[in-house]
Amino acid sequence: AKNRSASAWCFFHEGMTFAAHERLALEARLRKALELDHMRLFYQPQIDLATGRLVGAEALVRWLDPEEGLISPARFIPVAESSGVIGPLGLWVLREACSQGQRWREAGMPDIIVAVNVSLHQFLLTDIAGATAEVLRETGFPASQLELEITESALATQPEEALAVLKRLRELGLRLAIDDFGTGYSSLAHLKRFPLDLLKIDQGFIRDIPHSTDDMSISSSVIALGHAMGLKVLAEGVETREQLQFLQQKGCDYMQGYLCSRPLPAADFMQLLEKTHAG
Ligand code: C2E
Ligand code: CA
Ligand code: CA
Ligand code: CA
Repeated sequence: AKNRSASAWCFFHEGMTFAAHERLALEARLRKALELDHMRLFYQPQIDLATGRLVGAEALVRWLDPEEGLISPARFIPVAESSGVIGPLGLWVLREACSQGQRWREAGMPDIIVAVNVSLHQFLLTDIAGATAEVLRETGFPASQLELEITESALATQPEEALAVLKRLRELGLRLAIDDFGTGYSSLAHLKRFPLDLLKIDQGFIRDIPHSTDDMSISSSVIALGHAMGLKVLAEGVETREQLQFLQQKGCDYMQGYLCSRPLPAADFMQLLEKTHAG
């Protein structure tokens, strides 16, 4: 038994070394990519379920590597988070999204909301309110058209600190959304005190509608809960007509998902924006 645990430890140890090495390499590549301007934002439409209109865009970052092609944020956001690269990366995302939003305005596009993801460390460990104020000033993009998405788990980690940051952001006049709702164990007592505008139902609760009666109950409860707290509710990851119909029936306000569109490069998104609002 002693031998076995010794070799198990060796195996584990080697595995960790490899993982740590890979992580460092990825971190260095990520810093370099940011410097070389290899990051891109894609935009996924947000649709008003009552009118069918395109009312917003969620900015989603991708890493365009010359050799590997597009790299998913699922692969590098966690590394960025734990290494501190999230500071400069998050700032780049915010600045790029607001500049793009302002370019659409200048091109005569209808006013839409631009939603930007803010990660846990960016939210709690950087001066996000100061940075946002600065970016809005620099780009000229109106605060009223900017929405920041903060995950439920980030808000639940340190609710008192979170409340203070949310209040400062709210004072800038922008909108606040709680992302991945239903996955983060935030207490309703805290939620009620947070100055929020929108609750985004995590796509994990939408995926198995209409086959999972549990997920249907959860989603309709979350819609009712959001409305009871005076919030709008958006469902993410909507892929089928049945899901759309269910959400409409339950009075969900907005949707986002492949049924309507995948995240698009800025130029393609603008074409969609022009087309859907023409006539
Ligand atoms: P998220 O904020 O929950 O974003 C939604 C994810 O679901 C996006 O993945 C989007 O492409 C995907 N999605 C949208 N519609 C559908 C659908 O109908 N079906 C399915 N299966 N998926 C759909 P993406 O772009 O790969 O981003 C993954 C995660 O990476 C995001 O999850 C977010 O947590 C993080 N992320 C992306 N961009 C940023 C960023 O700029 N900053 C930060 N901090 N995190 C980001
Ligand atoms: Ca999001
Ligand atoms: Ca989400
Ligand atoms: Ca998610």
